[in-house]
Amino acid sequence: MEGPVIVFSYRHINTIHKTMEEQTALINQTKIDSVPKPSPWGKPPQQSTPIPSCLQDVMNEQLSEDFIEKEQKNVLDTFESEKKEVDVDALIAAAGADETADDELMARMLQLEYDKQNDEELLAKEKLVNKHQKVSISFENYRSVHPAYRDDEDKEEEDDDDYEPPKSEWDKKSPSFKKNGTVGSGKNVVTKHDKVICGRKNASKLMDFPPEFHSGDGESMDMQLNNRIYNKLKRHSDAENKRHQRLHEKKEHSTAGQVMDARTRLILYKLVNNGVLDSISGSISTGKESVVFHAYGGELNGETLPKECAIKVYKTTLNEFKNRGKYVDGDHRFSRDDFKKQNPRKIIRIWGEKETANLNRMKKFGVPCPHVQVLKKHVLVMSFIGKDMQPAPKLKTVKLSTADMQDAFEQTMKIMKTIHRDCKLVHADLSEFNILWYQDKIWIIDVSQAVEITHPAALEFLFRDCKSMTSFFQSRDVHGVPTPEELFNDITGLEIQGEGLEFVAQVQRFQKEKNEECLVHQTTYTKEYAFDYFFEKSQKERADALDKLGISDGEDEDEALEEEPEDIE
Ligand code: ADP
Ligand code: MG
Repeated sequence: MEGPVIVFSYRHINTIHKTMEEQTALINQTKIDSVPKPSPWGKPPQQSTPIPSCLQDVMNEQLSEDFIEKEQKNVLDTFESEKKEVDVDALIAAAGADETADDELMARMLQLEYDKQNDEELLAKEKLVNKHQKVSISFENYRSVHPAYRDDEDKEEEDDDDYEPPKSEWDKKSPSFKKNGTVGSGKNVVTKHDKVICGRKNASKLMDFPPEFHSGDGESMDMQLNNRIYNKLKRHSDAENKRHQRLHEKKEHSTAGQVMDARTRLILYKLVNNGVLDSISGSISTGKESVVFHAYGGELNGETLPKECAIKVYKTTLNEFKNRGKYVDGDHRFSRDDFKKQNPRKIIRIWGEKETANLNRMKKFGVPCPHVQVLKKHVLVMSFIGKDMQPAPKLKTVKLSTADMQDAFEQTMKIMKTIHRDCKLVHADLSEFNILWYQDKIWIIDVSQAVEITHPAALEFLFRDCKSMTSFFQSRDVHGVPTPEELFNDITGLEIQGEGLEFVAQVQRFQKEKNEECLVHQTTYTKEYAFDYFFEKSQKERADALDKLGISDGEDEDEALEEEPEDIE
């Protein structure tokens, strides 16, 4: 009996509960229904503050209120502190009227005076500390006087910071646009995309390209560039800039591209710094093998150098080495077994040594040529042929009267004989380019490749020199110019027959026989001419003097500046 009663009671309770829910819903429904619905045409219900509907909105609102409150507090604080400072100003201003009227005022004034004094001492200390220092230390943080009360010392700097360069013509031409990118009104409205304005703007931007980009000075004209051309130019400029940077880095590391590498600069700097040279003016010639500078001479070893000097700096262009090996290989003074294996930097010094030795020997026998002053590695200082920084003209370019040209021819013939017979040398690159005309005289220059007459190819080189000189004087209508063969025989005292190629073949044959003979008598030749006593002695004296000045010829500088080795091949 009990079971069914319980079931019944539960159902009953459930029924009662349902009835209550339904009743509440009914009451609520009645409540809603009882509120009159607003007419769609009526006024919208007025709500003073929108009620936030979700948690995030509530939080955002609180956060923004917090911010506003903090901001207001900050503003108030600053205002208060400024007010205080203004008050000090007012107090000090009032001080003029009655200085002792206020104790606080007096205390503040005294404090200010004390602080100023303290700062002055601090500045004096700062000056003292920084007097001999390259890096200066600032005591700014230890100063007591508020910047507002300092004297006007820093004002200029501040003004400098605010300095704006004057507007260029270009900037003036471009109008200032409104926010929407237009200017003007009605019919005259112009947008910032206007063709003319864009064109001018592009042209103006062109002026800001790096100085290497030769954009010209377009400020004075109304230049316009369309976008396509501007973009092309910009891309080109950027690419050139990058290339230039790469090239610059490369050049800085080699003597090949540019003569003025770090080593050369160091040598020149030392020569000037030690008073050997007074100053270096600038380059007078840039050839494929060397660069020649003009300089004013100083003093070395108690001797005064000539007032004007020429500095020849040899380049290490790899191709030149390949071509020039033949001038060294057969010259017993300079040929070294390991010539090809040597560091190119050391090899270029040979050209300096060779030119020095040849010039000295030529000078000894009275050939007009520059007088060697100092040789330091690949830098040769010699006397300057010319005046007031103007090098004497080359025979190729000088305008001479017929008589002078005739004179030049006769002098050249004589000099060629002296070089061969007395100096026992062959120039090997004699031409109108390596002969200067100065004070009615012929001057022989550029003798770094000149060889001893014992050189295996000396006679061939001599015949080439004869050919170039006779053809030049013939072209200038000089009387009595011999054929190259005649000149060759005249200089050498030989009687080789034939002409042209046949003559050359005979010369070669003769040279070969001579070389074989030379091998037998080599000791005699080398004894007689290997490193002239004169040359060696003068070189040693100069080297010692340079050593004393700290311009040593040691390898340490080279090693300190050593970079990746370059190959001759
Ligand atoms: P490269 O081997 O480059 O031809 P050079 O010795 O011929 O070198 O010199 C190049 C140029 O420098 C000459 O043509 C000449 O104008 C000038 N020059 C060289 N040496 C002197 C000097 N001592 N005095 C005046 N000018 C010189
Ligand atoms: Mg030359």
